[in-house]
Amino acid sequence: MKILISLLCLTLGLSILSKPAKAQFVQENKNTVVRYQLDLRGYDYYSIMNIFNYLNNAGYDLSGINWENPSAELILSSSDLAYIVSTGLKGNILEYHEPASENAVRVDERYLDPTEVESILKKINEAAPEVTRLEVIGQSLAGEPIYGLLLSTTPNIQNPKYYSKPSMIVDGLHHAREIVTPEVSIDFAMKVLEAAYAQNERAIDILETWNIWIVPMLNVDGSRIVWSEDSYWRKNARGSGGNIFGVDINRNYGYRFNECNGSSGRKGSQTYRGEHAQSEPETKALINLADRILPAAYISYHSFSELILFPYGCNKSLTGEDGLHRSVSQEMSQHLPTDSGRGQYKPGAPWEILYGVDGDSMSHMHASYGAFAITLEIGTAFQPPYSKRDEIVNKNVNSLIWLTEKLSQSLFSLQVVSGNSFSSVQYGVEILPIRRDQGEAPLRTNSAGYFHKVLSPGDYIIRVTSPDGRVVERKFSMTNVPKSMTISL
Ligand SMILES: [Zn+2]
Repeated sequence: MKILISLLCLTLGLSILSKPAKAQFVQENKNTVVRYQLDLRGYDYYSIMNIFNYLNNAGYDLSGINWENPSAELILSSSDLAYIVSTGLKGNILEYHEPASENAVRVDERYLDPTEVESILKKINEAAPEVTRLEVIGQSLAGEPIYGLLLSTTPNIQNPKYYSKPSMIVDGLHHAREIVTPEVSIDFAMKVLEAAYAQNERAIDILETWNIWIVPMLNVDGSRIVWSEDSYWRKNARGSGGNIFGVDINRNYGYRFNECNGSSGRKGSQTYRGEHAQSEPETKALINLADRILPAAYISYHSFSELILFPYGCNKSLTGEDGLHRSVSQEMSQHLPTDSGRGQYKPGAPWEILYGVDGDSMSHMHASYGAFAITLEIGTAFQPPYSKRDEIVNKNVNSLIWLTEKLSQSLFSLQVVSGNSFSSVQYGVEILPIRRDQGEAPLRTNSAGYFHKVLSPGDYIIRVTSPDGRVVERKFSMTNVPKSMTISL
């Protein structure tokens, strides 16, 4: 199918959009903090990982790392700074920062705030209604809409063909201060759509193969704080009155919530996990979307550190599909040169190259749906100067296009046909010998009987179980081409 539209105008008059006029939240800690760069040159890998784990477990705000020029950035109170210096860890102060003061908001106005993200998504949807669908996937704590934009040649979710296609989620801004991250999925959408309307075959293929849901800005409330009050704000806006403490949305997901010292129970911590799993409406919004679409792929954008992270987050824990995650991440890194030009983004599990985490979205998406799941830590600063914006975003958009096409070649698609083809039965699916013995959820077809999975080359057995206990098994092999199968049950 060709997209028969002659011209798509996505020219965006960003400068005319207004920003929120005043502060809407009051945060707990109004003390001056410093952005401090630890100098880790001369330490070996194991010593550096010990330092990262120590800092993270002790509750320090480790905002990013740099493996090329071994260093780490911390946001520290003056007393914490004194303690860090007393341990003998060397470094230097990059910046002083006073929350709730005039100079606290130093974000470049050209980055997108929530109002602008909403406006752009609406413009894209209006400009490309044949291949997009805009939805409010949930509401923030403060009641603001969280948007998801579907990119697909089948944007009508009543259309049976929609269910025959695999789904992908691309999100950004779990962490409010990571202001460059919404720009990746938005630029990706515009680039693919503009190319598709120009009849570019590869772009049309992407939209025909996938249902791609972009959620550029999950943490809308946190972003409001960043733009109005404190540009270093990370969490959501949980709390009330003068006591906004915030929950780290990316420690609030259900899979292994609070199970491996990868989050904090202290409200003041930057990695505060919340009262219970999925306590936050932002977390629920993404999970509700995922429960509906059963993603075969999940890509989450954070900043910074120039890393490609794959599951699991917990220390020493890897998925039953580590070969797939590791090899695709390694190949993707060849498409992601570092800003210095001296190397590539570094692939690894969080605990291998950063620090252990629990309750994170990436681990949850793999464990719950079997998704190929990665987290990109992009750039070398959580708020890069705007002059660096295009370089960082463009290479990440291009590598995301590369990844989408790569995963397209590794897709296994199953359709289960029953006597009553109108029933909305979900069948259980197992793919052997893939190991899912670490508390993962059982895999299943969607309500139209389809199941999609990214698989490494190799030999497999698929086992399909109907709700009344009938079982069918089939052998199949994956090479580097997509494969589909129909099973009658
Ligand atoms: Zn982050």
